[in-house]
Amino acid sequence: MSSQSIREIHEKIRYIHGLYRQLKTLASRYNGVQLRVKVLKKKTAEAEARRDELKARLDKMHAEIREAEGRYNLIDAAIQKRKAQLDQAKNNKEYVSLTDQIADDQRRNNALADEILAQVEKAEEFAPQLAAAEEAIAAARAAQTEVEKELRELVPELKESSEHLQGELRREIKEVDPEFAPPLREALRAFDGDEALAPVEGEYFCGGCRMEIPMQYIVALCEGKPYTCGSCGRFIYLPKDFTINNDEDD
Ligand SMILES: [Zn+2]
Repeated sequence: MSSQSIREIHEKIRYIHGLYRQLKTLASRYNGVQLRVKVLKKKTAEAEARRDELKARLDKMHAEIREAEGRYNLIDAAIQKRKAQLDQAKNNKEYVSLTDQIADDQRRNNALADEILAQVEKAEEFAPQLAAAEEAIAAARAAQTEVEKELRELVPELKESSEHLQGELRREIKEVDPEFAPPLREALRAFDGDEALAPVEGEYFCGGCRMEIPMQYIVALCEGKPYTCGSCGRFIYLPKDFTINNDEDD
């Protein structure tokens, strides 16, 4: 046996597990904020796409209006030309024919004018929608900027805490009982951080995979022998308040 009591050995390993858990908490804090940034970026992009779509529809309507106005002006020019020709009509037949054409064109242009007016009104209805889309973009961008700032500010804080924890871990792992250190290091190589360790849960379950730990190994743990879960490979330690039967401290 080393100079550490069985209780002290497990206390140290428990403390090491706690440090790994703290590291994991830091990582999940970072991931959480990063995820929020990602979600908000997507929202901004969606708001921009909505605005672009509205704008494209509006541009198309404006182009159609301009095209209809062009047609209206052409027909109107033809009407004016024929009106001027009325005075020079050679006979009544030609005069009637010109008047009929003028009336025809006038009808067409009246219908076209109604169409243009309806289109203009429809285009005007887009204005509030477009304004709302712009507002949505501004709101989405503001929310995104805020969380991006939060992330930037969080990084140095997390880095400092993480470095502190890692230093503490290096020191603590060095001090682990020589018999416990090799299987602990092996589990740490096989698993990601806090996943490498698990306390005994209840009287004889692995706190990692929940499989039953054979009683002889619980006895061995209480006698100061290390144990790695036979099912999942996690390094097993005794939780605080675990009744150690052969406790040398008692
Ligand atoms: Zn297990």
